[in-house]
Amino acid sequence: MATPAAKTAAEQAQAALKDATATKLVLLGTGGGVGGLGPRRTRKMTSHVMLSNGAAYVLDCGLGVTDQYALTGIPFSALRSIFITHHHADHNIEYGPLLVVGWVNGMHLDVRAFGPPPLKQMTEDFMRAYKTTVDFWAEDFKMKPLVAVEVKEVPAAGAVTQDDNVKVSAIIVEHPPVKPALGYRFDFKDRSIAFSGDTAPFEAVAKMAKGADVLVHEAMYVPALESYTRDEIAKGRPVKFEDVMAHMKADHTPVEDVGRIAQEAGVKTLVLSHLVSATDGITNDTWRAAAAK
Ligand SMILES: [Zn+2]
Ligand SMILES: [Zn+2]
Repeated sequence: MATPAAKTAAEQAQAALKDATATKLVLLGTGGGVGGLGPRRTRKMTSHVMLSNGAAYVLDCGLGVTDQYALTGIPFSALRSIFITHHHADHNIEYGPLLVVGWVNGMHLDVRAFGPPPLKQMTEDFMRAYKTTVDFWAEDFKMKPLVAVEVKEVPAAGAVTQDDNVKVSAIIVEHPPVKPALGYRFDFKDRSIAFSGDTAPFEAVAKMAKGADVLVHEAMYVPALESYTRDEIAKGRPVKFEDVMAHMKADHTPVEDVGRIAQEAGVKTLVLSHLVSATDGITNDTWRAAAAK
């Protein structure tokens, strides 16, 4: 038998999910933003899946979500609901493709989607754009075509949905100019998982996550972000250093503040995700030490 160290992350996830009786969370993508693509970035864009009682709940659909989902070994037929925190590309760009590719791979037609407006319109527009593609497959494989997905828009804080496994609620977070940008809390029967979404340091996140088993919070490591931004500008990215940093500070949470928010919330486990910068080179220890301050 291979040693655990020799196992890939996908193999570890598959092993942990196989025969799982408790609710599981898998981080499918932990890199924030759409930048830094290429060999220096091995982190995928933001996406997560929670598996509870055989049903899968996806939160955010960054580039790579479909492949990453498949790598966990969770069947597409298990996919019950998709949640979007906000309409930045690193959170929604693969939402439509997940639906179409998922459908061909066994996703049920009663899958539901939740997210800020105009998610309903976006879904309808995507379905219209891909009707020809879907129809070819439906004809070829004698499948019932994917024509629509039930969408419930989440324009404000409060209860989002509830089924036999989970109760989901949302808050509005601080991520200008995106309105609304959401954080979510999932209360499963055996554990609760809160997601900050993309936000500047925000008390409402600590309040939402109060007493949760797990808080998945976005995190930015400012020294690495500064050197990354200077690098990009030197390579010709047409932006000013001060403008980029001002935007990042208004919209995202330095990792030191994440530690404080998790402490206020009294969560059992803090998970850092949506790491900025997303490029490789910041060690796990660096992230952990900064959050622990
Ligand atoms: Zn983001
Ligand atoms: Zn964002």
